[in-house]
Amino acid sequence: MILRDTNINKLSGTTYDVLIIGGGINGAVSAAALSGKGVKTALIDQGDFAGLTSQESSNLAWGGIKYMESYEFPLVRKLCKSRNHLIRNYPSTIKEIRFFTTVPKGFRYPPVFLWMGTWLYWFIGSFFTKRPRYLTRKTIQSEEPVVNIENVAGGFEYSDAYLHDNDARFVFGFIRSALTAGCTAANYVEAVQSARTQDGVWITKVKNRLTGDEFEVRSKSLINAAGPLADDFNRSVQQKTQHRVLLSKGIHLIVNRITKNQRVLTFFASDGRLFFAIPMGVRTCIGTTDTRVDHPTKEVTEEDRDFVLNNANTLLNLDKPIEKADIIAERCGVRPLVVEGDAGGEADWLQLSRKHAIEINQQENFLTIFGGKLTDCLNVGDEVCDIIQGMDIKIPFPDYKWYGEPGQAIRSHFFHLAHLADLDSHTSPESSEKLSTRLWRRYGATAFILLELIQEDPKQAEVLIKGTEYIRCELREAAHREMVTRLEDFLRRRSKIALIERRETIRNSAGLKEACEMLFGDQADEKIAEYFAAQQDY
Ligand SMILES: Cc1cc2nc3c(=O)[nH]c(=O)nc-3n(C[C@H](O)[C@H](O)[C@H](O)COP(=O)(O)OP(=O)(O)OC[C@H]3O[C@@H](n4cnc5c(N)ncnc54)[C@H](O)[C@@H]3O)c2cc1C
Repeated sequence: MILRDTNINKLSGTTYDVLIIGGGINGAVSAAALSGKGVKTALIDQGDFAGLTSQESSNLAWGGIKYMESYEFPLVRKLCKSRNHLIRNYPSTIKEIRFFTTVPKGFRYPPVFLWMGTWLYWFIGSFFTKRPRYLTRKTIQSEEPVVNIENVAGGFEYSDAYLHDNDARFVFGFIRSALTAGCTAANYVEAVQSARTQDGVWITKVKNRLTGDEFEVRSKSLINAAGPLADDFNRSVQQKTQHRVLLSKGIHLIVNRITKNQRVLTFFASDGRLFFAIPMGVRTCIGTTDTRVDHPTKEVTEEDRDFVLNNANTLLNLDKPIEKADIIAERCGVRPLVVEGDAGGEADWLQLSRKHAIEINQQENFLTIFGGKLTDCLNVGDEVCDIIQGMDIKIPFPDYKWYGEPGQAIRSHFFHLAHLADLDSHTSPESSEKLSTRLWRRYGATAFILLELIQEDPKQAEVLIKGTEYIRCELREAAHREMVTRLEDFLRRRSKIALIERRETIRNSAGLKEACEMLFGDQADEKIAEYFAAQQDY
């Protein structure tokens, strides 16, 4: 926790150009973009980075195929371009994946019509992905016998992309690159109140949620990236905005892998909305729901579970229906959907699109990021930089490219060294991919350091928490550079262990104690107890 303590000490002693409230995807890209371009930036989150909505998504980078139905072609074009841009810049992390889609008999459109729509989608997406394909019932049955074709008219297959690790890890990548570029970021620090002085400085009273200590952070501008809590924060600082957010709850259930094929099985659920079975390592993530709520919530209700299980069991042809006891983990988040003025009544609820809006109070150097998607995150980072520049804050390196994996030459160099060091001979049986591939994807250029650690001490390549694929040097990296403050930060967000393993398996896992000693030193027992006390067993 040295990194967090150092940053908390720094927060009170400097006047920042920008203070960002919230370390979900929108705050994280803003921090990475601004600090990468040399702006003196700070970021705080009242929980862990990506601890709210940005850890609960479907993990998809998609071009918005469903907005074709409402003829929102400019939005589809924009999202497709964002998707392509992400795949291009994060080729190891964000991968094209096929959506194997079945259409029920009597659906509002016949399969052939929808299949033609996917060609238009492919065209709008600049032919960047593999071409769509029509699926007859026979093809569906032979290629994916797990799909129940009893009520199926036909289908189609098209491409979008998915996040290979998980959303929270992706977000942390931006926080990490912001930290490397000099951003002062700290988790579990809440913005309690902000006010602007007459000489134009924002003074934000913040609270360290671990110790209860309160102190002030000074900044020339303020970015509200509080996601579903954006309106609450604006109210607390008397900022009136044209936009506001409506909240839509969505849940996913994680169960054993239902098909060996690495593709998304896509259906139309009983409410007519798209319903996915998405590969997640050795598991499948099924969902989602779309329920209007008034407050951010993490509660999965019986009704939510029943909706997902009933649909899954109807749409799939399983040996044995999925039951509640088969649920390994659950995800629940609220989408912050942006609306303007009085819009957003019941009538247009499901039609609300997931675009973002950035509203600016130029006079007070204050801006709010409303809504948005992981898919659109690089645009948000760029837009925020342009706006901050317009607030007379100097951007020392405006042309610096702040995102993306290291280039091809560096990548080839890493894989060459990994080959010389026979790194892949350490690949654990728990892992479905080579160790070199996994380290590169998760750590980018830092993978060179992990490789050196393994060369110095081969024990660094040993899996520490039995049953998972995480090796000793990854724990070391998490302890030193990933601001793991609570055990949940590591198990649920820096890694995806808590998503793919049952709590009892984790609790009884040999190596958990040693892993916690690496992460928390003599607080290990306390942090383990805190983790298992805080959450309910499924
Ligand atoms: C079920 C579901 C499925 C989705 N699927 C996809 C998908 O497949 N692809 C996609 O692109 N998008 C998807 N989304 C949308 C996407 O996840 C969200 O739009 C995005 O994560 C929102 O990010 P954010 O940064 O605005 O909010 P958040 O991630 O919620 O971040 C806001 C942060 O602000 C912090 N905060 C709030 N108030 C304060 C304060 N006073 N002080 C300090 N910190 C504060 C919070 O702790 C939080 O961490 C999905 C969303 C849901 C719910």
